Amino acid sequence: MLSDFNELLKKYARLIAETGVATEKGHTVVLQISVEQAPLARLITQEAYKLGAAEVIVQWTDDQIQREFLLHAATDRIENVPQSKIDQADEWLEKGASRISVVSADPDAFAGVDSHRVASYQSANGKALMNLRKATQANKVSWTVVAAAGKQWAAKVFPELPEEKQVEALWDQIFKTTRVYEEDPVLAWKKHDEKLAKKAEELNREQFSALHYTAPGTDIIIGLPKNHLWEGAGSYNARGEKFMANMPTEEVFTAPDSHRVDGYISSTKPLSYAGTIISGMKFTFKDGKVVDFSAEQGEDVLAKLLDTDEGARRLGEVALVPDPSPISQSGIIFFNTLFDENASNHLALGSAYAFSVKGGTEMSDEELAEAGLNRSQTHVDFMVGSDKMDIDGIREDGSTVPIFRNGDWARSE
Ligand code: ZN
Ligand code: ZN
Repeated sequence: MLSDFNELLKKYARLIAETGVATEKGHTVVLQISVEQAPLARLITQEAYKLGAAEVIVQWTDDQIQREFLLHAATDRIENVPQSKIDQADEWLEKGASRISVVSADPDAFAGVDSHRVASYQSANGKALMNLRKATQANKVSWTVVAAAGKQWAAKVFPELPEEKQVEALWDQIFKTTRVYEEDPVLAWKKHDEKLAKKAEELNREQFSALHYTAPGTDIIIGLPKNHLWEGAGSYNARGEKFMANMPTEEVFTAPDSHRVDGYISSTKPLSYAGTIISGMKFTFKDGKVVDFSAEQGEDVLAKLLDTDEGARRLGEVALVPDPSPISQSGIIFFNTLFDENASNHLALGSAYAFSVKGGTEMSDEELAEAGLNRSQTHVDFMVGSDKMDIDGIREDGSTVPIFRNGDWARSE
């Protein structure tokens, strides 16, 4: 193991509790984490209490047990979410609980499970826990998604390494990309956040009407809604506390106009969705909707995803990540969206974040849809960037401004 692993893990736990969800006196913190990651769970709990948390609630997960459930549970248990789970979610909302999700799962954990059952389960959960999801997506509460090096996941990322080195190699990448090797990771994140916020500000001033993407296999125009807001790493919750929704993060992002997307686009990295890998995706859009699609791998799962609901065939996020970003330069494919999306320009099928348009968090679903923001139960990012991608901003008057050239920001700050 890394020689000072315990020290690093402690710094990471502190970063998650302090920068990730801005834990302060009196907060309730809900931590979702795999049983395999108990040492990290204990440290996060410790750090959250040190920061004054009133209560830390740990929700244990386990890939293998979940796989057994999806394979063998009675259909009515797959399709119905117990009332106690819904009540619990409401209780968290009432307390304004912060949510920490630690992802470490095998990207292929549910491979071979009937995709219909996986889709039913996800759809049932999506519907039942809608309030929690909406509040989270509107940043009413603090939330953060971070990673831990799961054994199966590490084996997928570093198949060439001996088994005992795989987990260590993945931790090394996690610590690197979340700045845990810096003397003061909390301070390092403050600086990183300021840099991304500046990019977002520049784009907000421009208020482009649309973006035009070109690359091999891609030529697409993506409209942007009026009064759209680009955002960098940090977000503010309803209490005005700053949190970091993803660590690592290298993106600035906003919502597209879900009815003004026309052209075709190809994915450039594999996507792990619902425990299955989907790769080599191609989409054709007309008036914002996917009218044709294919995938080299996982096409049936992709088809199910697109059929989740009406909004699953439209875009809800457009995010810019320069190809020279540290995660991209590592050249590693992580089979995990938290990392792979931060190596690449990406888009998301499904729901847009309400805060991506001015006043959005106070709007009803109908008003958001009216403003051009896609509504859906799902939100799935997929990667489209490469060092061959150019992006132009199209102004209201039709004039264009280069934003990306060869996968990097066209203008230096
Ligand atoms: Zn994103
Ligand atoms: Zn996203």
